[in-house]
Amino acid sequence: MALDRQFDHQSSSRLISVLHRTALTAVCVVIIVAGLGIYATFSKFVVRAAETDAERVSQAFMALEQQHIVHPRHDGVEQLSVSSAEVDHLDTSLALLVRPFNIVKVKIFAADGLIVYSTEHALIGQRDGDNADLQRALRGYSVSALQNKDAVFDLNSEQRFDVDVVESYVPVRNARHEVLGAFEVYQDVTQYRAEVFKGVVTSLTVLVLILVAVFSSAYLVLRVALNRLSESQQELHRLATRDGLTGMLNRREVMRRAQEEIARYRRERLQDHGHSFVSLLMIDVDHFKRINDLHGHQAGDSVLIKVAQLIRNQLREYNEVGRYGGEEFLVLMPGTGPGQALKVAERIRQQVADYRFEHQRERFIVTLSLGVATVIGDEELEQVVRRADQSLYAAKERGRNRVETVDTELSGD
Ligand code: GH3
Ligand code: MG
Ligand code: MG
Repeated sequence: MALDRQFDHQSSSRLISVLHRTALTAVCVVIIVAGLGIYATFSKFVVRAAETDAERVSQAFMALEQQHIVHPRHDGVEQLSVSSAEVDHLDTSLALLVRPFNIVKVKIFAADGLIVYSTEHALIGQRDGDNADLQRALRGYSVSALQNKDAVFDLNSEQRFDVDVVESYVPVRNARHEVLGAFEVYQDVTQYRAEVFKGVVTSLTVLVLILVAVFSSAYLVLRVALNRLSESQQELHRLATRDGLTGMLNRREVMRRAQEEIARYRRERLQDHGHSFVSLLMIDVDHFKRINDLHGHQAGDSVLIKVAQLIRNQLREYNEVGRYGGEEFLVLMPGTGPGQALKVAERIRQQVADYRFEHQRERFIVTLSLGVATVIGDEELEQVVRRADQSLYAAKERGRNRVETVDTELSGD
């Protein structure tokens, strides 16, 4: 039973710690997975918005400056080119157009990847042939990506540091929807960084709070349930092992513990060369039937309760008392030899004999007969209990209110 209880305590703390670990893991997983997910969603939104801006700016600019950028070749095919005389004009026109969009850099590519116009003039006439995003745009698809740059120059040639830019490549088409080239647009989206961060933090805080609330409720419910379970298990254990009237161990439990003690005694006996002992006292209230008859059954009950207390008073912490029968008690005394057991028995006898019992103003005395037996060698519990019984019988025979033992060869230690 004691082992069972220990197991229950362990398993309930194991349950609680599983809940703790699950809660901690769930919070960590939510922070990582949801954090990345929310960040990705917000960033995608920013990138989409920047790409739409880039498409609108490129379409507006082409509509506005078509005659300076789109030129038919001699074979009639349209191509993008800018004469150096037009560059300043395009700079001014573009600056006006992109002002509300926080755009820091624009390039226009011809269909063959040649840079025909750039807000950085030095790049005009160069080629960006290996750029996969540009190639996709030249095949007709818009491509955008968010990047962090240590520093960029804006359209006013002012340097900006630690900026988030969305780099977009958008195709330029003619009226027949044929791709003539592509725009590369850098939009500074640093201003959204704080917004994205705030969005991520707010969403995560809400999620974590929900999780904390859920796990705290689960913890409370589990704690309460485990406490109730443990209380009812303790109560069950008490009911199964204790006598309802006196609160002493019941017969089965005191016998179980006696069996355990004898088994331990046998193991230790081999090591300590026979110096250890286990003694039993069998105690019976004298003429108890008479007490019941004279003072009533209730008086009998309160005598049993008091006698149990008086017995307990004379014992050590590690001695056990059980209610063996109606008005019979069995005391288990590990580590106590026959001589010491006889002394304890005598003290118990004396204390009860001296006590003045009272029930409904009637005073009376109660005496006990006690039989002492000490385990000899490898004998079984039944044998030593039988000798304790025989000793008790001898005490009754010799006049009651006495301590006796049949262990004659041991009684002199
Ligand atoms: P002896 O000195 O030989 O032991 O005589 P005795 O009267 O004590 O023994 P006996 O076995 O004849 O009677 C025991 C009585 O104890 C009988 C029973 O009614 C009573 N008894 C047993 N259990 C209880 C109990 O829980 N409460 C009360 N009040 N009486 C009990
Ligand atoms: Mg009796
Ligand atoms: Mg009896």
